[in-house]
Amino acid sequence: RVRTRYAPSPTGHLHIGGARTALFSYLWARKHGGAFVVRIEDTDVERNLADAEEKQMAALKWLGVEWDESVDVGGPFAPYRSMERLDLYREYLSRLLEAGQAYPCYCTQEELERERERQLAEGEAPKYSGRCRNLSEAERAAFEAEGRQASIRFRVPEGRTIMVEDLVRGEVRFETEGIGDFILARPDGRPTYNFAVTVDDALMEISHVVRGEEHLSNTPRQILLYEAFELEPPRFAHVPLILNPDGKKMSKRDESIIQFIDQYRDLGFLPEAIINFLVLLGWAPEGEKAEEEIFTAEELKGLFSLERVSKAPAVFDNGKLKWMNNHYIKESSLERITELAIPHLAKAGRISENPAGEERTWVTRLVGLYQEQLDYVAQIVELTEMFFRKEAVPSAEAKEVLAQEQVPEVAASFMKKLTESEGEITPDGVKGMLKAVQKETGYKGKQLFMPVRAAVTGEVHGPDLREAISLLGKERVIARLQALLA
Ligand code: GLU
Repeated sequence: RVRTRYAPSPTGHLHIGGARTALFSYLWARKHGGAFVVRIEDTDVERNLADAEEKQMAALKWLGVEWDESVDVGGPFAPYRSMERLDLYREYLSRLLEAGQAYPCYCTQEELERERERQLAEGEAPKYSGRCRNLSEAERAAFEAEGRQASIRFRVPEGRTIMVEDLVRGEVRFETEGIGDFILARPDGRPTYNFAVTVDDALMEISHVVRGEEHLSNTPRQILLYEAFELEPPRFAHVPLILNPDGKKMSKRDESIIQFIDQYRDLGFLPEAIINFLVLLGWAPEGEKAEEEIFTAEELKGLFSLERVSKAPAVFDNGKLKWMNNHYIKESSLERITELAIPHLAKAGRISENPAGEERTWVTRLVGLYQEQLDYVAQIVELTEMFFRKEAVPSAEAKEVLAQEQVPEVAASFMKKLTESEGEITPDGVKGMLKAVQKETGYKGKQLFMPVRAAVTGEVHGPDLREAISLLGKERVIARLQALLA
């Protein structure tokens, strides 16, 4: 039975790299009708942040990555937080100690640091020397008497080649020569990542470990632990790095891309767009679908496969992400986009927080005017600025248009029609008025519409003019025409 997991450390927000790993892991489980587990690896206590677990899980939920077992819903292998599993690690640790496959190490930080510096100075790759590997009982007792606290190290077998059969990278070999005896548990009993992850993956019956390429070099250590426990290791799939748009390794301080899922959510990216974009970072479907770019989550549950994940790093393309999000915004209902736009407009002080009645209708129409154009919903604030100002602020192009000789006549005629009209102006009403202006002045087409647009909106391009005028409302439009003629 396929069981996969995503194992975040609660040290920050959900990063795009983590989200992609979680997504791949989740899709693989769904494809096989298996289970997807979210396990919290919180043993690095100094780095844990108070609300990181909750925030990360909320971000996953928002993306639609749904887990079957975790800290909130429980499951057959609870608990799902490492720090609540210390008894289990202790038990496995004693087994290794009893079998002589692990030993206490009394080296201090300073001693280890000195050893490392010496190795580097001699041009060797740093690796634990094995000083405490073969201590006699008397030597151990002496260290204990000194008050030294022991870490527990794994006794790495000598002269072996460990083969990782990776579903993405193929066969990758590691010589145990290069692997020093690594720490399993700190003096306070907390397990290290390599030890905890192995015990947890084994006990939780994880069949496929999907994770970032940066963990590939940890894998031989974990395989050695499975061996020591006489357990079958899972299948591994190390997914490629994500590079930033200029092809460099992405760092969390990088400003060329937005890094965290919450930030995308807050800007009004849609979860289905993020999913669609992330899944293509290092994966493409096979056969006739290979050229397609738009995939729903439902479709992906059938299509996704770890074998089709590429070894080559994936480049993060901002333009593609925006294009994709715009695609999904266009496909969404106007209601949904309006709901998402309201908090942005309200925060900018443009509308009330819960617009109802006429205001709601007006906001909906306003959003509708720009829906096709939005790359992400927060752009609505900038795009609709001119609706909330008293005057139009003409752009350079608009100024040129407004310098044309027919402008005063056209503007005066349109203003008159507006003043004479009764009630609110509808798009159809505007249409009628512009027809009447055409009749009265003899100007038509560009000579008529461009000055009107430039005078009223301050721009020479923009959304549907009749709807824009209707939404601006009679008073505001008259005031702008008056200002032009003054
Ligand atoms: N907690 C580890 C991380 O956040 C998980 C690595 C793994 O999936 O084994 O990188």
